[in-house]
Amino acid sequence: MSVDSLVVVEVDHGFGWEELLPPYGRCHACDGEGRLDGPCPGCDGSGQVRQWPWHDSTHELSFILSGIRFRPEISSPPFPPPIAAVRGLPADLSASARHQFDRLAAAIASWGRQAYLHGLTWLFVKEVLEYDWTRPEDGADHQSDTLADAHRMFLDGVTQLGQRFPPTATRLVLAFYE
Ligand SMILES: [Zn+2]
Repeated sequence: MSVDSLVVVEVDHGFGWEELLPPYGRCHACDGEGRLDGPCPGCDGSGQVRQWPWHDSTHELSFILSGIRFRPEISSPPFPPPIAAVRGLPADLSASARHQFDRLAAAIASWGRQAYLHGLTWLFVKEVLEYDWTRPEDGADHQSDTLADAHRMFLDGVTQLGQRFPPTATRLVLAFYE
């Protein structure tokens, strides 16, 4: 079970928040083929889309990042505590990020009753990296072996961001929907 998410990364180099563009990766809609019945609308036929590798989140990871229980019947196991309670969008969001969240909200509205925007939040990279990602069942020495794949992929990506940019001036802005 997964939760769809939109992740925008922003960096403040001292002149306000700017979006950091994600790398190109394989389009999931067409599996990189570029075609469905016709040219793939997800990637305009290129087979490649810009996206962070952690766009497909588990319920547990989504809860850690946002504090939102997406579905009580699924989210009932005792999840680790969230990094922070849900915060909404930052007031000083960059224009390009604002555009993406506006577009997502419009898309969700057009999808009808089945679609739902669970919440919007943001986190500094520093907060993500300082969180205790060790799981109760993990031995202290075996964290990297037993951390769930989705968590490890997310944490690896954020760790790389924190190595390239100041963790207190880099933030993830997140929307969770389905
Ligand atoms: Zn595609």
